[in-house]
Amino acid sequence: MSIEAKKALEWLIEGNNEYIKSDKNHRGDISLEKRLHTHKHGQNPYAVIVTCSDSRVIPESIFMTGIGDLFVIRLAGNVVADFGLGSVEYAVEHLGCKLVVVMGHTMCGAIHAAIEDTHAHYISSIIKEIQFAIKDEKDNTKASKINVLNTVKKICTSNIVKEEKKNGLKVIGAMYHTHSGHVEFYKKINK
Ligand SMILES: [Zn+2]
Repeated sequence: MSIEAKKALEWLIEGNNEYIKSDKNHRGDISLEKRLHTHKHGQNPYAVIVTCSDSRVIPESIFMTGIGDLFVIRLAGNVVADFGLGSVEYAVEHLGCKLVVVMGHTMCGAIHAAIEDTHAHYISSIIKEIQFAIKDEKDNTKASKINVLNTVKKICTSNIVKEEKKNGLKVIGAMYHTHSGHVEFYKKINK
């Protein structure tokens, strides 16, 4: 059964508040019982998180989640190309996720590389994608936000996403603050 976007966002905010408060306890369910249950009955994640590969950004911990809760897509700079979009489409169409959160973060190395224009080889495609979004912005956090919103926009070009939006799907941007652990959501969901 699908979880409504509003409820999914409430759970994420609640989990993030919990994460900021406790620096040791992980509340997410990673028990043997949950593992066996999801193995047998399949997954029913309530949110898709598109975020950066940065090792300081751990979606499952940031939102205090466990097995079967989040469908996570990670690439440096939280960009999406065909493979990423395909993963989002799978989650919203086949798994019934009603909330997609594109979560950038402060102090992002990929954003820094895009601003400084330092790159080579395969990373070039990521940097070019970010540069296309941020243009002349030199402030890392501001550029991160622009880049997040660009990824949101890109996800919304998917026909499957467009279709699912009629059924309550929401695609929103967010920023993870690496010093405080706080996730700043750019949009509220009222219904
Ligand atoms: Zn990053």
